[in-house]
Amino acid sequence: MTLQIKLGDTTIHRVIEQEGAWFDTFQFFPSLTKELFEQNRSWLEPKYFIDDKIFLCVQSYLVRTPHHTILVDSCVGNHKPRPARSMWNMTTSDRYEKNLAAAGVSVGDIDYVMCTHLHVDHVGWNTRLENGHWVPTFPNAKYLFADRELAFWTERHKEDASRCPWVTDSVLPIVEAKRAEMVKSDYAMNDLVRLIPTPGHTIDHFSVQVGKAGQDAVITGDMVHSPLQARYPELGMFADYDSTQSGRTRRDLFGRLCDSPTLMCMAHFPSPSIGRVRRWGDGFKIEDI
Ligand SMILES: [Zn+2]
Repeated sequence: MTLQIKLGDTTIHRVIEQEGAWFDTFQFFPSLTKELFEQNRSWLEPKYFIDDKIFLCVQSYLVRTPHHTILVDSCVGNHKPRPARSMWNMTTSDRYEKNLAAAGVSVGDIDYVMCTHLHVDHVGWNTRLENGHWVPTFPNAKYLFADRELAFWTERHKEDASRCPWVTDSVLPIVEAKRAEMVKSDYAMNDLVRLIPTPGHTIDHFSVQVGKAGQDAVITGDMVHSPLQARYPELGMFADYDSTQSGRTRRDLFGRLCDSPTLMCMAHFPSPSIGRVRRWGDGFKIEDI
């Protein structure tokens, strides 16, 4: 399995937490018709869909540049109450920490954690439980959040904390510990790492572009969940903030990267999770590396 790619003097390493088929295909993509799925079933199964469920990977991307060690997204985390999602409820797996160690880093090595958006499966390892308190998992890291994304979830949490328990245990403790750095979703850290606004799945979602032109990758976050949304960019998923906007975002970004050498590193695609965008009829396909 490909877990590491090299782009000049920058490396990107996948850190897998979980893989599984948890969501019913048609609940996951509410506007997907049976007819359209049948037309595509032959290339989607068994890799991307199995038994009428979508097969997903939950993972972080670890980016090492000559200047920084950066974790993009932090998965589900351990010991967290998630009553609405049994597969993510109070987990106690050591797989994530072992895979992080296998990538050659300890929690103290991470300089930045970047959350592409503030959904439950992208913020979990931001914190860990210590003596009954949620403390930053990465003791030396700053955590980058898009400012409008944090404002949205802070407000949602005020209205009804029970609808977003991950904000309670994995986002607000970072703010309270003064580790959060609020940025615009087009923030450029330096000439090797910059954010690209990819709104729609959430209000201020960003992707992360890494490397120099011609030797670069885009860590997409959840701007796309399945190659079916490359083939049909307007296909929304159930947790989208604005599926029309997320469709525009996909068509725009895939159009820009199509037939370029830029690698796309997807949060939830099954292994190898990384590929390049090519045109396919009116849409796109992502060719695995
Ligand atoms: Zn996700």
